[in-house]
Amino acid sequence: MPQAGTPAGSMARYERLFIGGAWVAPEDGGLMESIDPSVGRPWAVVAYGGRCDIDKAVAAARDALDGPWGRMPGHERAALMRRFADLYKERARTLAMLETRDSGRALRESLLDVGGHSNGYHWWASLADKASGRTIPFDDSVHAFTSRVPVGVVGAITPWNVPLMAAAWKLGPALAAGCTVVLKPAEHTPVTSLELGRLFEEAGFPPGVVNIVPGYGKDGAGEYLVAHPGVDKIAFTGEGATAKAILRTGAETMKRFTFELGGKSPHILFADADLEQALNAATNSAWTLCGQSCALGSRVLVQRPVYDRVVEEFARRAARVRVGQPMDEATHMGPQAHAEQLAKTLSYIDIGRNEGAELVAGGNRLGGAGLDGGYFVEPTVFAGVSNAMRIAREEIFGPVAALIPFDDEDEAVAIANDTSYGLTAGLWTGDVGRAHRVANRIRAGMVWVNTYRFIRWSTPYGGFKASGWGRENGIEALESYLETRTTVISTTGRFADAYAV
Ligand code: NDP
Repeated sequence: MPQAGTPAGSMARYERLFIGGAWVAPEDGGLMESIDPSVGRPWAVVAYGGRCDIDKAVAAARDALDGPWGRMPGHERAALMRRFADLYKERARTLAMLETRDSGRALRESLLDVGGHSNGYHWWASLADKASGRTIPFDDSVHAFTSRVPVGVVGAITPWNVPLMAAAWKLGPALAAGCTVVLKPAEHTPVTSLELGRLFEEAGFPPGVVNIVPGYGKDGAGEYLVAHPGVDKIAFTGEGATAKAILRTGAETMKRFTFELGGKSPHILFADADLEQALNAATNSAWTLCGQSCALGSRVLVQRPVYDRVVEEFARRAARVRVGQPMDEATHMGPQAHAEQLAKTLSYIDIGRNEGAELVAGGNRLGGAGLDGGYFVEPTVFAGVSNAMRIAREEIFGPVAALIPFDDEDEAVAIANDTSYGLTAGLWTGDVGRAHRVANRIRAGMVWVNTYRFIRWSTPYGGFKASGWGRENGIEALESYLETRTTVISTTGRFADAYAV
């Protein structure tokens, strides 16, 4: 397999799918190109799967579930997962470089993110033998108890913004629960997911436990996976509209679903906060990942006494962000991950201007001086935003902060909750009572107080409302990969003849 340092000009080649523990050529898929978004040109040729390839991958996952993996005690599964986690740690830098090449995420961010995944896999390994049931008291005539059993074959469908993280959040709990997986990464960023196949192979996982089939979503590998009767659960991260399409397709076979969808998170700055710290968090959470994260604090709610200062600081700090080639570790912000996302971001910047928001920083595509052809956009700040504007209501997925003023606690909570989303929220205050009061009133799956984007494998993550179903990370995620079986055993063996009289 080619490495991250593939010289410019020569294409990296990932021409095989990972199915049943073997690297196989696509049967009815083919080859596609992956674009390096920092130059806008293909850098890798990648195999994609068709319907037959998905059939084979699901069959391999089912065989592993019915065979060696399904029969393996939890502590042995844990040992394999730990071996994988150690290999992941050894390769973290290479994986981070490939992630940057494929998605455009600044390497300094990829290193931080990917560097932590091994810890997550270790944590999941530690849960692989912990899923236990309970006994149900009734009377002496029966012994009733529950067992937790893997939900079965999981189709994991991941997005292009954080391919390795999204994969880790699904593979970790799925494998800990004893499930087997077919992973379908996004067409824009398939490379690092395929690299995982090498690590599973080297760690000694039985064939078919994890299968990796890049491919297209609609009318492609993604949709086939969702429709497939051999798949028991779909774990999906991406857009709400896609989730609804998946629900419709998957309804035919009554699959289980977890959905991690979009957000338009409020980040509330009260005037009594430590403003310096709050600004560090608020600017970072608006522009990190070039704005391509569902957890971003894209709506910055600012109490009026400090509003002007916050606007000024956002503009000043936007000018300090080094936008550039993502492989350069000095770069803060790389390009948008693909051309459609760049167009989407630029169109929302136009929408913001047209609906009367005040553009105080950024707003342009960047080119020239080593950026030509790449999908670069300036960190952008709109002031004077009302929560009714589209730039405050719709997920942009670009580095665009919308600064919304408010007067008091009630108004802050009302604005924060006035959204169809409910994924994350942040608030900054020096008043501990206010911290509790406001956090308690926010309708979101994750609320941060005097911090932002603290997310770990152990902290449940997921959305209220249109932001999703279920939770990733934490014990809650493990639960979503398990079914409960209740067993009732009669201690007498007697069963009355209902038709005797
Ligand atoms: P999608 O929801 O379309 O893609 C996510 C994944 O689903 C990809 O692997 C995709 O494949 C696959 N997919 C697409 N359609 C289907 C289908 N009918 N059945 C099964 N799988 C399918 O997101 P986009 O890439 O189109 O991004 C659009 C917007 O979604 C972004 O601008 C952003 O607002 C939001 N988004 C949110 C994310 C989050 O973390 N919550 C992550 C990514 C995007 P393929 O790549 O081939 O399309």
